[in-house]
Amino acid sequence: MMTGKNYIGNLQSAKGDHTFKTFNPELNKENDAVFTEASSEEIREAVNLASEAFKEYSTISGIKKATFLNTIADEILALDDTLIQMYCSETGLPEGRAKGERGRTVGQLRSFATLVAEGSWVEATIDTAQPNREPMPKLDLRKMNIALGPVVVFGASNFPLAYSTAGGDTAAALAAGCPVIVKSHPMHAGTGELVASAIIKAAEKTGMPNGVFSNLNSSGIEVGQELVAHSKVKAVGFTGSIKGGRALLDIAAKREEPIPVFAEMGSINPVVILPKALDNRNEEIAKTYAGSITLGVGQFCTNPGLILGIKSDSLSVFINHLSQEIMDINPSCMLHPNIKKGYDANKDKVVAQAKVSITANYESDVQNNYAQQAVVSVDGKSFLENPTLHLEVFGPFSMVVECANKEELETIIANLEGQLTGTIISDNDEITNFQKVIAAIQNRVGRIIFNGVPTGVEVCESMVHGGPYPASTDSRFSAVGITSIKRWVRPFSYQNWPNNLLPKELQNENPLEIFRSVDGARVKK
Ligand code: NAP
Repeated sequence: MMTGKNYIGNLQSAKGDHTFKTFNPELNKENDAVFTEASSEEIREAVNLASEAFKEYSTISGIKKATFLNTIADEILALDDTLIQMYCSETGLPEGRAKGERGRTVGQLRSFATLVAEGSWVEATIDTAQPNREPMPKLDLRKMNIALGPVVVFGASNFPLAYSTAGGDTAAALAAGCPVIVKSHPMHAGTGELVASAIIKAAEKTGMPNGVFSNLNSSGIEVGQELVAHSKVKAVGFTGSIKGGRALLDIAAKREEPIPVFAEMGSINPVVILPKALDNRNEEIAKTYAGSITLGVGQFCTNPGLILGIKSDSLSVFINHLSQEIMDINPSCMLHPNIKKGYDANKDKVVAQAKVSITANYESDVQNNYAQQAVVSVDGKSFLENPTLHLEVFGPFSMVVECANKEELETIIANLEGQLTGTIISDNDEITNFQKVIAAIQNRVGRIIFNGVPTGVEVCESMVHGGPYPASTDSRFSAVGITSIKRWVRPFSYQNWPNNLLPKELQNENPLEIFRSVDGARVKK
């Protein structure tokens, strides 16, 4: 049952005096439920509880954490249609997307459960003592990853399930042994409360300490800012705008004890179409890209917002094909009036720049909150000289840049801000003539794609979802896949520590039978 309250650990609470409602963009009206924003007192209570819970939770076995994570997945599935209907009413997204995202969320929880149950993820490393080493004896040193402490997770507007309350950041932090306080996204506070209730049920069923999870409502930036500034919070996970992520990074850096903020922010995901591919597969590429640009109404961080080619007749034909294909797709509903407002404002800003031509703009009457998809084009020199053209236009929008030659293409890529992805569309061996272009892309992105589209992020161990700033605040980590657990841990060494007092992961007998590095050899003994 929807209460509109916060979860401060296992208890529901609504002490604040500011309330808000979510919005159904499809019906263009507010939903009924009233949510109460967390007060400063509740924020402090949640953080203090998390800090207390950390003492016990950080030492809980991998098997027990796995049971907790799997039970969260079960409880989310048990919410069944109630969750799906709530998701759709708060996002305007179709039922199929809701179910797909729920599947991904549950899959992520279960993959972290498998990871921590097996246990080798702690990267146990043992250098045994050599008392007779000359000229100095060597000491016994043993290292493993340990949890950082309470983590604040900001729910993402564009992934109400997979990157929000029990999404990738939360699943990874809980798997690592960190209690989580979610700053629920105001656009889908109801979906957030339902998922939070599933996490709390799972925590109670599996005997987790009170405070291992809290869910705080807010419809303004103050709750998030107070959380990040709190001295007992030890790390932050965020998905959203560059402005929001950067503001949180700056707050964290200015604390007496600075903490890491893992923010996954804007990206325009450059796509380079090489000349022969354009000559041979022009229409096919245009059709594929019209689908990718409009997928999820363009509200994906991997949306292809920038298409680069070398000026030619084929490129002009491609622009026409892409424009036609884009206009043949029906406009769809965006997540929220504010996202739609942002889309229109950013699109208008780009279109108003010198030398930008609109090649497609769905002009027919669209319903409230529906997005008019658009394609524009510009020459390489203008793009290079105008930073406004590098802005993310979050929605079904893409810009084709006509570069004068290969050298200009290379220079444009080398001068791009950090990106999540880069894509090369190439035929046969053509790519081998563009090695410098590939090297330039590699330097700017976290993932490079050959003959595909950047949308659709597989959740697996080899996925990198991150990239140089501002795609993310720390390009050494991925926000997707089981390796994302590394954001919430730190390496820790024991020197000459008695065997019986060591964590099981580092004891001589290897009681957990995990893979370890022992005196340089990777072994399971
Ligand atoms: P957002 O504005 O960055 O907000 C995300 C979360 O951060 C919200 O909970 C918001 O709180 C909080 N926040 C924002 N600025 C903050 C600040 N200065 N201090 C503390 N907290 C702050 O993103 P959004 O609401 O999801 O969407 C807005 C725009 O972000 C989109 O139009 C799009 O341009 C971009 N976006 C990009 C991606 C991507 O993957 N690249 C994903 C989502 C959104 P409140 O909402 O409570 O104010």
